[in-house]
Amino acid sequence: MQGRDDVRRRNLATVLGIVHRRRRASRAEITQRTGLSRSSVGTLVADLEQAGIVTQSVGEERSGVGRPSPTVSLTGRYLAAAVNPDVTGVRVALVDLGGRVVDQQFHATREAPTPHEAAHLTATALADLSQGRPGSTVVGICAAIPGRVDKTGTTVRFAPHLRWADVGFGALLSEYTGLTGRVAFDAKVGLRAETLWGRAQTARDVVSFYGGPGGIGAAALVDGRLIDGSAGGAARLGHLMVATDGPTCVCGNIGCLTTLVSHHHLAAAYGLGQVSLAELRAAVLRETAPALRSFLDRQVGYLATALRMSAWAYDPELIMLGGFFEILLEAGRETLESAFSGGTLGPLGGPPALTVPALGADQLLAGAATEAFSPLLHDPLGFTQTHQEQVPASGGRAGG
Ligand SMILES: [Zn+2]
Repeated sequence: MQGRDDVRRRNLATVLGIVHRRRRASRAEITQRTGLSRSSVGTLVADLEQAGIVTQSVGEERSGVGRPSPTVSLTGRYLAAAVNPDVTGVRVALVDLGGRVVDQQFHATREAPTPHEAAHLTATALADLSQGRPGSTVVGICAAIPGRVDKTGTTVRFAPHLRWADVGFGALLSEYTGLTGRVAFDAKVGLRAETLWGRAQTARDVVSFYGGPGGIGAAALVDGRLIDGSAGGAARLGHLMVATDGPTCVCGNIGCLTTLVSHHHLAAAYGLGQVSLAELRAAVLRETAPALRSFLDRQVGYLATALRMSAWAYDPELIMLGGFFEILLEAGRETLESAFSGGTLGPLGGPPALTVPALGADQLLAGAATEAFSPLLHDPLGFTQTHQEQVPASGGRAGG
């Protein structure tokens, strides 16, 4: 019996995984992708429908025999909360199972929030956001952290710009919101979201740089797998040495990318303080003073060096540049692309393509939400049955 239940749970998870990734899929397509029989897929989808996770409608698509195959889509009843604490404030969002941000709030802070401040702001925002969705259930919460986390997804090991070290932020989120709390490394979940819904859907080898207000995050997908390393610290590409005469970095090396290229450096050069990415982009593309242009060229040059070294290390087909790196790509694509020319890449199949994330800044929230959804995705019926006995989470305790 146990074995049969296991098979059913696995099959339900597989079917839901397809709808999660595709957002909607015909039953014929699910049958084709899973290799299960048509009647098995019909039963599995009906189970998911009864649990309130998916809904079916007769769509346009037709199966081989000419009968329309019902389209399976998500009900939107189950949502996950995603939070991204950074040096300028805390962003909180509700995200649906298909990775769409359905609502979000940003709470600015004067300086980097402490863990308790971040958890308190999160709970307040979440209570507010949940009020607008009375028919929905928030299944869990995950924070996209601008820093490395432990492999269990509960503790922030080191987020240098937030100045958080060994913080059990998952438990803190649980305490403040009443939801199961987790933490994840922002660049890694951002890249995961791009593999699910963005530019990296068909790619197997990708390097991603994310430039947030709180520093540089990077992640690598190698042979279709997001790499972690022994302690979750793989692909720390912000510490690639890009200038032999650069300043000393907190890591002890000199001339690291993160010490020379940052949101803060760019904004300061253009006479700006704490500005949004859109404001920074407008300023960079507007100003044409020669001194600023040569500053920008140097920034692009440092990034080109880092991209070249990343290509040597990971052999990616795609390098994704998110956050403020999008501005450097827009301002200096030619220089960045020439970083791979005249080298030894030719015989190996050509240089990687350079692109920006399709999901923009939402990649961090969508990726974190997928982590929060993992118990539901892993065991859809088990999770919803257990959850029905509990009071639906609606922001929980906002006190502090
Ligand atoms: Zn360093």
